[in-house]
Amino acid sequence: MKPQNITILGATGSIGVSTLDVVRRHPERYRVFALCAHSQVEKLFDQCQEFRPSFAVVRDALLADQLSTLCRAAGLKTEVRFGLEALAEMSSAPEVDSVMAAIVGAAGLEPTLAAARAGKKIMLANKEVLVMAGELFMHAVREHGATLLPVDSEHNAIFQALPADFSRGLSACGVRRILLTASGGPFRTKALDELDQVTPEAACAHPNWVMGRKISVDSASMMNKGLEVIEAHWLFAAPPEQIQIVVHPQSVIHSAVEYNDGSVLAQMGNPDMRTPIAYALAYPQRIDSGVEALDLFKIARLDFYPPDFERFPCLRLAYDALGQGGTAPAILNAANEVAVAAFLDRQLPFLGIPRLIETVHNTMPAGPEGSLADVLAADAEARRIAQHLITDQRFA
Ligand code: NAD
Ligand code: MG
Repeated sequence: MKPQNITILGATGSIGVSTLDVVRRHPERYRVFALCAHSQVEKLFDQCQEFRPSFAVVRDALLADQLSTLCRAAGLKTEVRFGLEALAEMSSAPEVDSVMAAIVGAAGLEPTLAAARAGKKIMLANKEVLVMAGELFMHAVREHGATLLPVDSEHNAIFQALPADFSRGLSACGVRRILLTASGGPFRTKALDELDQVTPEAACAHPNWVMGRKISVDSASMMNKGLEVIEAHWLFAAPPEQIQIVVHPQSVIHSAVEYNDGSVLAQMGNPDMRTPIAYALAYPQRIDSGVEALDLFKIARLDFYPPDFERFPCLRLAYDALGQGGTAPAILNAANEVAVAAFLDRQLPFLGIPRLIETVHNTMPAGPEGSLADVLAADAEARRIAQHLITDQRFA
């Protein structure tokens, strides 16, 4: 069997590192074509030494020089590139079979879209791509015959619980509802009047998952679940009323599909992203991921609660943006990215996140999704407004 040639976008991040851990276990199946990161040169260099990719990509010329020097000194043949164009090249190169889309945020949109337009197998962790440009992206996937495999644990679980031909429509397949589980994050039971004082450290201390900082804050505000509702809508052509959020603090059931005969098919496992990553890498086969077997006796009980829209206003904001359509989700996403960065920078209190997003939403009208240029323009304008609110008006 010829090994699968892979490009990893976001190689130095939490998903990137877990992907390489699965790849490491199967050297005969996978070959790393390109490792792409932003600014962590040392970490990327270590990965280059181990996986010997043909290419490595970093943010700018200066970092590329540094990495290049390190690679040459170590006798590596890895060619170093930089910038957005290089990312798109790495995800669409003819040698590439599959692309792990694991950049965080809007920065991943263009390279992931390039992979779709080149008809690649896309393993999608970067949910912001679908939130920003769901229609455009799904259209590119269909038009260019790309294969889209969800890596986000919930969507991977749903994918596993759906029939293979789900694209003919959920109702036609007998699906009544998608049950999208959520841990509820670290503040599920925190006193409401203490929420505004929480620190970035507390927000990033997720009870079950170890993840990048942005998605950790999104989990704490539950914006992550809001983004995931939008993600599920596009991946499975599911109307919002067919998606039920189920708060399940143990994160053992990663999501489920309810059928009209009363069956509920759930995917379960330990909360370790290597399971959905391995599933996407080997699909339709199954391979060892390094994840420990699930011990149901140790878990003993599973709890479920309805989502709390009052405690987590981000949920409502996401449903509203999805209902409004067009560029509204791109605006939501951009305002959220700015708000989360400001919170991590201690410039915005935790509850300032939904307040800021709502203000941006009320300030800026959404238009039709249209072209990539329309989406990028809405993203840029929403960021400008959000940033202005934070710096000039001391928004809090
Ligand atoms: P992370 O912050 O740990 O890593 C992000 C990666 O993206 C890094 O390699 C970084 O170098 C790269 N990057 C950041 N900005 C970039 C830019 N402008 N250009 C090029 N590269 C850039 O994030 P993560 O937790 O690995 O999450 C990645 C994506 O996967 C996110 O969209 C997140 O929502 C999604 N996801 C993550 C998890 C998880 O468990 N970590 C689970 C589900 C979904
Ligand atoms: Mg998820």
